[in-house]
This record gives sequence, structure tokens and C-alpha cells, in this order.
Amino acid sequence: MSRDDALLAIDTFYNSDAFYDLLNRRVGFRTESNLPGCEAELQRYLDEEMVPYLTQMGFSCVIHKNPRADAGPILVAQRFEDDALPTVMTYGHGDVVAGYDEQWQDNMSPWEVTKSDDIWYGRGTADNKGQHTINFAAMEAVLSLRGHLGFNVIALIEMGEERGSPGLREFCAEQADLFKADLFIASDGPRIAPDAPTMFMGSRGVCNFVMRLDAHKGAHHSGNWGGLLTNPGVVLSHALASMIDRNGKILIEGWRKSTMPNSVRAAIAKLHVGGGENAPQINPNWGEPDLTPEERVFASNTFEIRAFQTGNPASPANAIPASAIAYGHLRYVVGTDPTELLPQLRAHLDAHGFHDIVVSPERDPMYATRLDPDHPWAQWAKKSLEQTAGKEIAVLPNLGGSLPNDVFADILGLPTIWVPHSYSGCSQHAPNEHILESISREALRLMTGLWWDLGAGDTPKSGS
Ligand SMILES: [Zn+2]
Repeated sequence: MSRDDALLAIDTFYNSDAFYDLLNRRVGFRTESNLPGCEAELQRYLDEEMVPYLTQMGFSCVIHKNPRADAGPILVAQRFEDDALPTVMTYGHGDVVAGYDEQWQDNMSPWEVTKSDDIWYGRGTADNKGQHTINFAAMEAVLSLRGHLGFNVIALIEMGEERGSPGLREFCAEQADLFKADLFIASDGPRIAPDAPTMFMGSRGVCNFVMRLDAHKGAHHSGNWGGLLTNPGVVLSHALASMIDRNGKILIEGWRKSTMPNSVRAAIAKLHVGGGENAPQINPNWGEPDLTPEERVFASNTFEIRAFQTGNPASPANAIPASAIAYGHLRYVVGTDPTELLPQLRAHLDAHGFHDIVVSPERDPMYATRLDPDHPWAQWAKKSLEQTAGKEIAVLPNLGGSLPNDVFADILGLPTIWVPHSYSGCSQHAPNEHILESISREALRLMTGLWWDLGAGDTPKSGS
């Protein structure tokens, strides 16, 4: 039995419609974790779908209560062969965002997989049921062909990712002994382009905050009071203008970060951001002046004003508004200390005379992570994926977006490798979410090759 036999077996699996049937069954669970009353369905996805499936593959499964009382259960499934073999941790999430059942084109139901040429529609096809279904199906193909895997597996399936993974951090910190592994391999998020097999090894962090200026109790007639009262909208817009220039360059001391190791710079130099026909036009002159567009999105910090309001735009009055509010965030790379960001903003505002503007965090930050592209496990995975793909793959040191990858990279201390099976036009979180058949077919092969190679013996030693 060879690697090629395993790839042939997964092709056969795909062509037999077995992949469709499996995914269709999983999409049928309405695991909408951000809607009230979803608890029973979240539990059912694990009880009736994942536990039986993984048990027949030889996993021992335990469903843990989430440390946060209001959050969904966490499945930990272990399949152990031998101490001497490498151990991989893998991850997926079985929850999805709301179905928005009425809004899908052609009256499609989000809760079954509808095929239309290369496109397979259904809630969770891209995020994340399709992705973990691919990974476990590939693992099962290797298992049935080889009779064993040649490695040990610890799988974690959570049911709250779409709510920001409540309890995941605490759970992994408390149960770190369950997750002793040599590396982490999982799938979520998009490829850099539909036809470009991609791996990424971390993500940017994100710090969301609110800036607010309350100038008066209530609005005041501008004929009677204009020229006499401070306009909070004017003041807040000047404060924002002091933070970023009109071409998107950050002006706050400490917020710009674009130092990168040579290995990261070299990996990014091979990438090309874009995103196909429906993608917006990139402004090559936006952001940090001395960086390439790819360095800006993958290797530097970027600041956005996400929303900004003064008065009542829905019904503008001839009045001086009482207050103004802006919602901002910084996406940041490794090397930025997130605990420093809001103090640095405070210092900046004070230095520019904006003492009255109140800054508050909107929620806990997501942390930035990045595995060096030269890390032995990163090199190993790249080689395996390229052997299967028959071409060079895109290597992102980190995703531009954010993931709870610090749980695995920092709390559990694992080298983290993500192989995404979706693409940026997949309508994730919106009506008409879908995957592409062409990507799924290739992804099954890539993952089969990766699992095959992990069990074939020629891997970096543990702890390297
Ligand atoms: Zn999602």
C-alpha cells in the first residue's frame, strides 16, 4: 500500500458521493450557537454525529461541560497507537452562525447541501463542518488502507466558535495534560485564492475599542447655541484624524509595527493578495507607505474606524449634538503587546489635547500568533502538501484575520499549521454560504497525503 493508493482511495470516496452524504448529514444539524435555545442541538451534533463517527475510527470520546455555564460542550477525542509515534492535535467547530433561512437564493434551505455546478451551498459547508469533515475523512482513508495511522491523534471539537469560543481558553489551560502533542494541524478560513493550496501558521490579533465624547446633556439648537458650545462630532473627528492620516498611515506612537524576520519577509514576497472577480479594488497607496500590499495585510498593524456617529444621521436636526462615538480596532502582528495599545492611545489623545474623550475596550483582545516558516514542522507540512498538489503552495506566516490560535500556540505550546479549504468568496456568515467542489476534491487529497506522511516515519522529532 502506497501514498498513491491512499490518494486513489480518497478520490473513490469522493466520487461515490460518500463525502456529499456525510457533509449533508452534518449540515442538517441546526447548530446556530449565536441564537437562544440552541443548546440541545449543539449537544446533539456531538452525541449523534461526531462521537459515533469518531468511535468507529477507534477514538475514545469524552464530552466535557464548558467551563462557562452558558456555553456549548467540548468534545475531546483521543486515538492512541504508540508512545514512540508523533502525536497531532486537531480541531474543528461544529457550531455555525444563524441560518437566515428566508434569505437564500432560489428558496434553498441552509440545512441541506444543494449542488449547482462547482458550488455546494449550505450553512457550515465552509465554516467549519466541511473543513473538519474533509480532515477526518482523509484520516479515515489512511486508516483503512494502512490498518493503523502511524501517529496518535487528539481531536477537540468545540460548539461555540461563532460566539468567540467562550471557555475554550480556560478549558485548554485547565486540561493542558490532555493535549500533549508534537504539532497542531487543523482547517478553517480561506485559501489566499481558490486555486492556490494554502497553509498558514497563526493569525493577527485584534483589539476592539470605543471612543466617546459626551459634550452636553441633550442636543442644543444651533441657531441659539452655535458658536457657543463645543461640537463633539468636530472634536472626535479631529482626534481620529490625529490617529491616522488620510492615506491610512497610523500616527500613534507604538502602534506601527512592521519588523519581520527574513523568513517571514521571504514567505510573504511569494504571495499575491487579490481575491477574484467579486473582490473589491485594492488601493496600492493605502496604509503603511514602505510596505507591499501583502506586507501590509500579513505583517503589519492596521487601524480601522469601523463605525462613527454624532447626532442622528437617520433624522438630522439643526442642532449641536450631545455626543459623538467611534468604534475602532487595531489588527496587530506578533511583537505588539496588546496590553499597551489602549494606554498608548490614551497618551496620544492627552498629548493632543483630547483629554475629554473616553476610551474603553469593547471586548477581550484576540492574540496574535505566528510560527516561523522555517520551523521544521512547517517545512515538513509544506513539502507534503506540495508533493500532493504537484505545485508550490502559498505559505502565510499568519492570517490577516483573527483566530483563537493562541490557545494552541501559546497556552498549549504547539507548532500550529492550518490548511484552509475555503476561499474568500464563500459567503461565510451570510446567506448562500458554500464550498467549491474543485477545492474540496483537492483538499481531501492534500489532507490524505499529509496524514499519510505523518504516519510514514520521516517527520521532525518531537520538541524540535
Ligand atoms: Zn465562522
